[in-house]
Parts: sequence; structure tokens; C-alpha cells
Amino acid sequence: MVGLAKYIFVTGGVVSSIGKGITAASIGRILRSYGLELTAIKIDPYLNWDSGTLNPYQHGEVFVTRDGMETDLDLGHYERFLDVNLSGESNITTGKVYMSVINKERKGSYLGSCVQIIPHITDEIKHMIRKMADKTQADVVLVEVGGTVGDIESQPFLEALRQLRNEEGHDNVMFVHVTYVPYLKAAGEFKTKPTQHSTKELRSTGINPDMIICRSEMPIDTPLKMKIAHFCDVEPKAVINCPDVSSIYEVPLVMDRENVGKYVIQRIKLGVEENSRDLSEWENIVDSLKKEEPKVCVGIVGKYVELEDSYISIRESLKHAAAHVGVKVEIDWISAEDSINMEKLKDLDSILIPGGFGERGISGKLDAVRFSIENNIPLFGICLGMQCMVIEFARLHGLDDAHSTEFNTETTYPVIDMMEEQKKIKDMGGTMRLGSYDCKLKENTMAHEAYQEELVEERHRHRFELNNDFREALEEKGLIVSGTSPDDFLVEIVEIKDHPWFLGCQFHPEFKSRPNRAHPIFVSFMQATVDNLK
Ligand code: GLN
Repeated sequence: MVGLAKYIFVTGGVVSSIGKGITAASIGRILRSYGLELTAIKIDPYLNWDSGTLNPYQHGEVFVTRDGMETDLDLGHYERFLDVNLSGESNITTGKVYMSVINKERKGSYLGSCVQIIPHITDEIKHMIRKMADKTQADVVLVEVGGTVGDIESQPFLEALRQLRNEEGHDNVMFVHVTYVPYLKAAGEFKTKPTQHSTKELRSTGINPDMIICRSEMPIDTPLKMKIAHFCDVEPKAVINCPDVSSIYEVPLVMDRENVGKYVIQRIKLGVEENSRDLSEWENIVDSLKKEEPKVCVGIVGKYVELEDSYISIRESLKHAAAHVGVKVEIDWISAEDSINMEKLKDLDSILIPGGFGERGISGKLDAVRFSIENNIPLFGICLGMQCMVIEFARLHGLDDAHSTEFNTETTYPVIDMMEEQKKIKDMGGTMRLGSYDCKLKENTMAHEAYQEELVEERHRHRFELNNDFREALEEKGLIVSGTSPDDFLVEIVEIKDHPWFLGCQFHPEFKSRPNRAHPIFVSFMQATVDNLK
């Protein structure tokens, strides 16, 4: 089937962190509910080639795509809202664009010309966007431009999008500008001036927005929308209000009530019947997420707990699983860097140790593993979390200074060691075992029971692994290897017996959980959490 290849470009104004990604993903969800095929692109106007080496404190979680690209966390929103698997090409950075142009220049592709931002950089940007349309044959390509208009970094991108609109034609491209409408308590009113200014800034690049989505703390009224329409030169019905809601999953429903889908369908001629959408599945998701009782409390013992965005996919996966099981999950963020208050852990219904890099916080994570084993509290370890489970298990079974060579190269028992193919690599960016690999499950294990399948596919992002030299010894002491690579060489999942729920996986299941399809391991973990309800 040939897709319609229409484009929706989403820009942001006034301030950052207003949920541009969620807003764009929600437009996508609405269009999907009309039966349209979508793909999404996030433009990040920074020079890093990908997100892999960025500190989670600056940019939040690194989201790993199926094909192994380390990308911006917004791709996670797109995968969850659109229910699609995106490829690494869905994340375009300034670094990728320039690298590609400079590589072409070195090869002689532009012989004779002076290589410039216009046309060479802008052509490259357009090429990358169109390539996604061709490759996916999507009806709509949703493109979110990171940052806010007026940033120096985003200028070449806006220029490329402006050109693309001219080339593809007015009926095939629309611009959506997401702004913030603040409420001034002292004046007792909402203020539209920041929206007017940022729209003016956008128009100075030659782009007139077709729709303005106003984020606000509370709902804004029609006269205010009329004012924005008037001053920003958009149709009144294209001024959409998106006030704060308690759950991000409600946003598509809020925007649908504002007739976003209908407007988009007319504007870029999507050829579907205006009222033919079916958002019932999404409504059910939102309903099941609203459940307030019973409450379970999961403690996440991690290094970046001050910024929840660092573990955003884990947080969402827990919510999906809780909705599936029929409970409300509360998360207690516990810093692994401070000495952990063991008394506090006693109040938790279960513990999760997420992935991470570097030694900071390791001893706190190991303490949490010991606590789980000694107190029979369900424990779920992901990547580094799984490695910590193996280390502490080994220590408790006589391998006293067992460790990972990531943290101690001198240990007598390097139960976690660098993977062979990683040893030769010196670069830090994009050189881990990344992306989807098959995992074979062993029968009569918790993992097998959770998945109900023999072979599953999960996403990875690591350099270290369970050291096969210790596999037999650990198995003799009771560690169960319940998942491996199909050739049995790499350990993917470990568990122990005689414990309510103790499972660690080397991969990141959180990247595959969807609101409508909670991840089997998260569901199994959540059920164990409920069974352990205090
Ligand atoms: N630092 C560990 C490794 O490289 C774990 C990585 C992770 O948790 N994503 O193997």
C-alpha cells in the first residue's frame, strides 16, 4: 500500500517542558484512531550524533529503538502513543545532518561547490525526512522540532521545513505551534502575549502556523481563543486548548474534544470521514489507569532519581502493568547514592533496580538486593540491576568480593565481565550491544510463565554480561538462568527459587511496554507486588 505521505510539523514556543512531545504524540494517536498509518520523527538540534552519551540529568532517559539507536525519550512517547516500532532514523540530530554532509563533501559528492547551510544542510534535512516517508509508506509523517522557536540551533531545520512545505504543497503539509498561556495570579487573568510573540518569531522564519495548541494550567475560554486566533492569524477552530491533566494518556481525549482530528483531516486532505475515528480502546486505557485502589508501592533504587524523566519508560511500564492487574502504583524514588534506610524498604511492596553506568550508587543497589533476598520482597532488576542481583547473590553464597569488572578489575570473582566483542572497542558512543536480540526461555521458570512463549525479542544497551566462567558455579548455588541468547552463550534472565519474585534481565523490557499491551515481565512483577501488599 502506498501511503499518503502528508507531513505535520510541530514546533514549540514560549518555554520548554510544556509537553510538546506528548502533544504531538496525541495528534498522532487521534489520527491513528481514524485508521491512518503514521510514523514520527524527533528533531534534536544539538551536535551530539545521538543521545547515547548524554547525561540523563540533562535530557532524561536514553530510549533505545529496535534497531539499536540511542535516541531522545520522546521516541518512547511516540512508540507508546502510536503503537509503532520506530527506527533510529526517527531521531534526526544536527550532528547526524552535519556528519552526513561532511562525509559527502570528503567523498567529493559536491565537487566544485562551496558547501553551505542553504542548500546543502537544508537539503540533507529534507532528504532525511522524506526518506522516512518513503521507507515507512506512512500516511502521515509527524515531525517534532526540539527546542523553542528563536533558538539559533533550530534555524536550519525550520528553514528546511519551510522549503518542504513549498515543495510538497500546501495541501500536504501543516504546521502546528505549541505554546504556553500563563495565568497571572496578580492580574487574575490569562496572558496571550507570549503566544503572540512566539508566533511572530515563527512567522519571521517564513512559517505561518496552521494550528496553535495552547498549553495552560487551567482551561481557557472562547474569547481568549478568539483573541489568539486574531493576533496569530489562524482560524478560530484551529486554536486548541490543552490544559494540564492528571495523566498524559488523557491528552488525546482532551484534544479530540477540541476537534483536532477533524481540523487536521480537512486541512491536509487525509480523505477519511471526519467522524470515523474509534478512540474506544484509548478510552478504556485511560479508565483503567484511573483506578485509585488498591494502591501498591514500588521502590525504584537508582542513581538519577531526582529526575523522574531518567526512568520514564520504566515508570510508564509500571503504570501499564498496574492498570492491567487492576491496581494503582505509587513509586517511591530511592537514591542509591545515599546510605539506604532499610526500615523504609520494609514499607515497600516491591523493589525495582533500573539500569545504569558507573560505580556511584552500586553499594546502595547491592544493599537493596540483599534486603530483598533476606526479607522476601519481590525484586526486579533491569540491566545493571540484574548485574547487581548476580553480584550480591554470589557474595551471599561465599564468593566474598564478587563484583563486576566495570567497578573492580581486581576482584577474585568477576561474575560480571565485559563482553568479548566489547573489549576491543575504545569509542564511547554507540558501541554497546544495542537493540533487539532474541532470547530463548527455559520452561518451568517465572520468565517462561510470564511470557508464555519460547522465544522473545528484547532491546539491549550494555557492555557487560554474566561471566560464563561462573555460570555453572552460580547455578549450583541456586541461580536459575531462565533466558539466554538462542545459542545459549549470553545469559539474558536470572531468577532464584524460594523467593516470592526475584528476576533480573540483561535487556530493557521497559522499551516495549505499551499502554494497551503491558509488558509480560512487568505484569508478572506487578502481580507479585500485589500478592505482597502490606
Ligand atoms: N553498565 C552496565 C553495562 O554496560 C549496565 C548498562 C545498563 O544498565 N544499561 O553492562
